[in-house]
Amino acid sequence: MPKVCLDAGHNDSGADTGAQGNGLLEQDITLDIVLRIRKKLEQRSFEVVLTREGPFVNGAHGTLSESLRTRCQIANAAKADLFVSVHVNAGGGTGVEVHALASGGKAEACARKVLPYLVDAGNWANRGVKFSNFQVLRETVMPAILTENGFIDTKEDAEKLKNSSMIEAIADAHVRGICDYFGMAYAPAPVAPSEPTAQTSGIDALIVFIGYPEAGIVPHLQAHLKAPAIMLQDLTPETAKAARKVYGIGYSAEKYVVEGYAIPLYKLLTGSNADDTAQAVIDFVKGR
Ligand SMILES: [Zn+2]
Repeated sequence: MPKVCLDAGHNDSGADTGAQGNGLLEQDITLDIVLRIRKKLEQRSFEVVLTREGPFVNGAHGTLSESLRTRCQIANAAKADLFVSVHVNAGGGTGVEVHALASGGKAEACARKVLPYLVDAGNWANRGVKFSNFQVLRETVMPAILTENGFIDTKEDAEKLKNSSMIEAIADAHVRGICDYFGMAYAPAPVAPSEPTAQTSGIDALIVFIGYPEAGIVPHLQAHLKAPAIMLQDLTPETAKAARKVYGIGYSAEKYVVEGYAIPLYKLLTGSNADDTAQAVIDFVKGR
């Protein structure tokens, strides 16, 4: 399987500290995004190497050049097939862009795969694919891209970046682009249709609810569907995948994510508050 080196841009302090603005620190956002990308890639059987998982890159970082060189050395030593450096822009502006060292190569191809998904992830302004003589693009020996995910010092962009579902969507966009680049399916390996044999028979229907206010209406739907119910926080991806039809109660479809796995809902019964959600369940049960 392809090996991807993910580089969370910048360190917590020192010569390679990230940009800041609107109460946000670039180095925190980049690490958050990268850890989410790792999880999603590993779920799709990619091998993943990180240049850092804590405050500092895993090696020399006394100067800016050292910090950047260490990132490249980690990727080169791991013989990664692709290097993806994740950043947040600054300096006034809005939107997303993806950098490659030069045109015409695999890096540009990868950049062009990732960018549209990034734009879609948050209705971001599309600043295009750019060619930049950045050290991390130059000193990595494999195709390398660098993503700039919004402007930390632009209020509108920063507000988006404060939303964890946006961070999740940005991570997901990277994964979609990376899967496309390698010609791999984005969908996690499907659960094989289970034969009706003793131990492998899946669950036909499963009810998943998110909050306690919704819990009260759950037995109503359970009685109707004759299906088990579980709270999202208690659910595992394996159980979710074993169910042929997942009914969600409450909130929006994007909330139905467990350990990075977005659960495909067969039906979502929801409203703008717990009462409306309960009404949606009742209407469904009564066939209205
Ligand atoms: Zn940066």
